[in-house]
Amino acid sequence: MITCRSAEELGRLRAANQLVARILAQLRELVVPGATTAVIDAEAERLVREAGAEPAFKGYRGFPATICASRNHEVVHGIPSATQALNEGDILSIDMGVKLDGFYGDSAITVGVGTISREAQRLLEVTEASLYRGIDAVKPGGRVSDIGEAVQQYVEAQGFTVVREFVGHGIGTRLHEEPQIPNYGPAGRGPRLAEGMVLAIEPMVNAGRAAVRVLADGWTAVTVDGLLSAHFEHTVAVTAAGAEILTARSAPAGVSAR
Ligand code: MG
Ligand code: MG
Repeated sequence: MITCRSAEELGRLRAANQLVARILAQLRELVVPGATTAVIDAEAERLVREAGAEPAFKGYRGFPATICASRNHEVVHGIPSATQALNEGDILSIDMGVKLDGFYGDSAITVGVGTISREAQRLLEVTEASLYRGIDAVKPGGRVSDIGEAVQQYVEAQGFTVVREFVGHGIGTRLHEEPQIPNYGPAGRGPRLAEGMVLAIEPMVNAGRAAVRVLADGWTAVTVDGLLSAHFEHTVAVTAAGAEILTARSAPAGVSAR
C-alpha cells in the first residue's frame, strides 16, 4: 500500500528531510584530499544526534555507519573507511538518512575531491540533471515508471548507463516504503502517483557498463568494469502542481541549486 500523507505528516517529513539537506551541505565541506570517510561519518552522526534525530542507516540490516560513502567505482552502500584517505581527483557519494519525530529523511550527493577530471565532472552533472528530469516527471495521475523513463532517456542520451539493481522508494514512517522506483522505463507502468505520496528518487549512473556487483563485505556495490559511478537523491512530495523537493539544498550540490 502507498500512503498519502496529511499536511501535518508532510510537515514532519519536511523537517526530517530539511535536516538531511542541511547536514549534507555541511559534510560536503569535509570532502577534501587526505580526509577519511570515517571522519566524515563521525561528524554526520554528531550533527544528526545534535539535532535530536537518529541516523536511519546505522543498524539498518546491520549497516555500521550513519552515511554510505561510495567512492569512484563504488555505486552505493559503501562503508566509511578509517584507513583509506580520499585522494585528489576522486569522486565521493554521500548518502544519508535520518529519523526525526517519527519520520524519515533521505538524500544523496556526489562530490569531487579537489580537482576532478572533465569526464568525472560530466558524470556528476549528468547524474544530478537526470534526478531533476525524474522529479519533473512527477505529477498526480502519472505513473511511477514515468520517473524512470525520464531518467533513463536523459542518461543514455549522454552516453552513460543507469543501474538497475537498486531503486528509489517511498518513504515516511519507514525508510523504505512502497512503491519501488526504478531508474528506467518504459513510462506508463506501475502505481499511479497521487498528491501526498512521498518518494525518494535516486538515480545511480555509471560511466561505463550498467552491471554492478556487491563486494564480500555484503554491502558495497561496485561497477563490474571498474569505471566511475555517481548517485544523487532527493526526497519529494507529490503535489497538485507536480513535486515539492523536501531535501532541497540552499547551496548547489553539483550544478543545480534546486
Ligand atoms: Mg539514500
Ligand atoms: Mg533512498
